[in-house]
Amino acid sequence: MTVKKQTKTVVTIVGARPQFIKVAPVSRAIRDTGRITEILVHTGQHFDANMSDVFFAELGIAKPDHNLEVGGGGHGAMTGFMLQRIEPLLQDIRPDAVLIYGDTNSTLAGALTAAKLHIPVAHIEAGLRSFNRAMPEEINRVVADHLSDFLFASTDIAVVNLRNEGVDSAKIHHVGDVMYDAALLFADRSKDRSILSDVAIEPGRYVLSTLHRAENTDDPARLAALTAALDRVAAQLPVILPLHPRTRGAMERHGLRFERVKTIDPVGYLDMVALESNAAVIATDSGGVQKEAFFYAVPCVTLRDETEWTELIDLGWNQLAAPTSPAIAEQILSAVGRKGTEALPYGDGTAARSIAEKLAD
Ligand code: UDP
Repeated sequence: MTVKKQTKTVVTIVGARPQFIKVAPVSRAIRDTGRITEILVHTGQHFDANMSDVFFAELGIAKPDHNLEVGGGGHGAMTGFMLQRIEPLLQDIRPDAVLIYGDTNSTLAGALTAAKLHIPVAHIEAGLRSFNRAMPEEINRVVADHLSDFLFASTDIAVVNLRNEGVDSAKIHHVGDVMYDAALLFADRSKDRSILSDVAIEPGRYVLSTLHRAENTDDPARLAALTAALDRVAAQLPVILPLHPRTRGAMERHGLRFERVKTIDPVGYLDMVALESNAAVIATDSGGVQKEAFFYAVPCVTLRDETEWTELIDLGWNQLAAPTSPAIAEQILSAVGRKGTEALPYGDGTAARSIAEKLAD
């Protein structure tokens, strides 16, 4: 006799590069429960092949069931367009929950639409805070968290942030960080990549940099200061920088260009892990890249005034460098060889499984 299992339907809404990386381990864990049907919606916020398709191919993510093809646009137009497209989809599917990730406009649109249709919202990477409301990401996170019914927190600090905002403890689940799960699942496959020789850099003898936060790219003075600082570093140690389309556009608009930094097109996850894990130092304004630096025990300098991942500052693996500070280049160069305290602030690699089990239950 076979006992029929109750299956649930979850609609996952993603649209930007870091979300594809987070979705990979979670979708896999959801499939493994055998009790959830996942319907994947890609909003189309990131649409270039090297910002989207490459991650689906490399990380074995199922082809999206729906692509809303939102394309570019300002925050208002983009979010409005998503709301318009997501609402009829959710009305039609009527899922048991909507799963959202991180802090992009796709996160916000998914949370708002689902909450208004009284569909439970599950937020992965809940409780992350920069406490800087000038950042569009901070607005998206705060709203998404307060509309969510399941708040999956990566760290102890995220849990404290949610409690401090009065979120009901019963809704908060401290599961660990799904990017750590992704690293454990996929990083080994980066070992046979040829990216270092392709771009003519030697293991342990270069700085890897990424820049894309609006606060850095949209302010010409900050972007000019960062460009000059990274060029100063490159005079002493090669700097390789996979250039985000937003940064490329901003540099063109502001008439800025690198003299010595070697820029390349955005790379896939496996090439990125190869570049990260072999770097002497990582200098970045990315959230995910700060954590990945720590996963591969590479010192990190964060090119921002604050960070959400403060545990890495406390552990000594990461340092903040204010983008307008004249000392950034020296700070990056002096980070070579720096080590922090060993710790496991992001769980034990079972965050995705805990999330999937919670959703199935
Ligand atoms: N990443 C990548 N290729 C690149 C740059 C970044 O695969 O050229 C990955 C990186 O390894 C990390 C994620 O993208 O997993 C971080 O995304 P991003 O910096 O765009 O966003 P954030 O984490 O700041 O939200």
